[in-house]
Amino acid sequence: MPLGDKSFMKFEFRPVSRAPSYNDVTPEKWNSWVWQLQNSLSTLEDFSKHFALMPEEKWAFENGGSVFKVATTPYYASLALQVGEMTAASVMDWHQRSHNPIRRIFMPSKTEHGQLGQQMIDPLAEEVHSANPNLIHRYSDRVLFLVTDTCSVYCRFCTRKRFTGHDSGFVGTRNYLSALDYIKEHPGIREVILSGGDPLTLSNSMLERVLRDIRSIDHVEIIRIGTRMPVVCPMRVDEPLAAIIRKYGPVYMMTHFSHPKELTTEATLALGLLADHGIPLFNQMVLLNGVNNHASIVQALNRRLLYLRVKPYYMFQCDPSQGTDHLRTSVESSEAIVRELWGHLSGLASASLSLDIPNGGGKTSLVPNFEVSREAGVRHYVGWDGRVGEYQNPAGPEELPCDVSDYQSEWEQLKNAKSTIEVPQDVRISQ
Ligand code: SF4
Repeated sequence: MPLGDKSFMKFEFRPVSRAPSYNDVTPEKWNSWVWQLQNSLSTLEDFSKHFALMPEEKWAFENGGSVFKVATTPYYASLALQVGEMTAASVMDWHQRSHNPIRRIFMPSKTEHGQLGQQMIDPLAEEVHSANPNLIHRYSDRVLFLVTDTCSVYCRFCTRKRFTGHDSGFVGTRNYLSALDYIKEHPGIREVILSGGDPLTLSNSMLERVLRDIRSIDHVEIIRIGTRMPVVCPMRVDEPLAAIIRKYGPVYMMTHFSHPKELTTEATLALGLLADHGIPLFNQMVLLNGVNNHASIVQALNRRLLYLRVKPYYMFQCDPSQGTDHLRTSVESSEAIVRELWGHLSGLASASLSLDIPNGGGKTSLVPNFEVSREAGVRHYVGWDGRVGEYQNPAGPEELPCDVSDYQSEWEQLKNAKSTIEVPQDVRISQ
């Protein structure tokens, strides 16, 4: 290793430099998540103050308001500027601007409006698996509870555009209570995943109410919170929030970092606080064209996350949600990334490449196939570095039954917990 080669050192995380027009904002305001949300950039005028907009982006603001809401926090906009953008006064090559990974995540573009490839408003067919508009029961043992439709940043790749960003806010009382009743009436439901929208846009008191109500249901074992707030508004994470989440544990936090540049000093402090409170942290990323679709970026993100006590969990193939063709990548290129990482990145630092089968088929894992031949009882594999090996099934007696008496009824209950929601035949055909 050459002396002074920093690439071999542990990681350096940098604070976000505020965009110049925020220099007069007091630290109290800047570090308030409420101020960040109240001062979100959402209009052409807001964005033009900071960004030299490309014609495609201007077009999207002027003509495309109806497709999907636009908003970003001042913090995340500042990060985009820091990462590669210059202020409107600066000259910068358009190509370079459009390849700023952070900017690509939140900036609308005319490309979203073309009729390109697969364009689905509900790619996961969540509506047909819904007990009510805010509760999705797709898998046997768990439900997805959409507690709000509000986000602090509207990601252009969002899967749930049909639901997110309609300014409804917290789930209405009728749907809230009926969702709780549904969970109570289905004892096989062992896990409730809070999503939306972003559950951490709720106030502490609203969030605590939700956590308390769910935790009071005897058969619910695990609560998950899916959130991008540690990425786009890390000031949301503070001692009072961590204390509430800890109180109703086990609560797993699923963060959504998609690029190593999102791991700022502010974000690492937020993650550290949650980890210090004993809150298990997992990360789900989405592979995005021109953002993170390269093995070097994925490994950089995952190793840093692991160092920060966040387990890389899923690496998702981007869903064919409406207006996402320019952000989606091919399955082949995603598989090539996994193949390249295999053997170079530990299992702890690796996320599972997963594709949600359109039409509500659920997740499927995409793993490289190392099997090269198969005969009765014998399989041959070639390892990541080319070494070939043979695995023989045991030559001994038949496999023995094991004593399942303590667990069989629990398993039957879980397997049969799937909702009684009637799924239309044309959706079931593909399962
Ligand atoms: S934070 Fe999640 S739900 Fe909200 S816009 Fe982004 S991807 Fe969609």
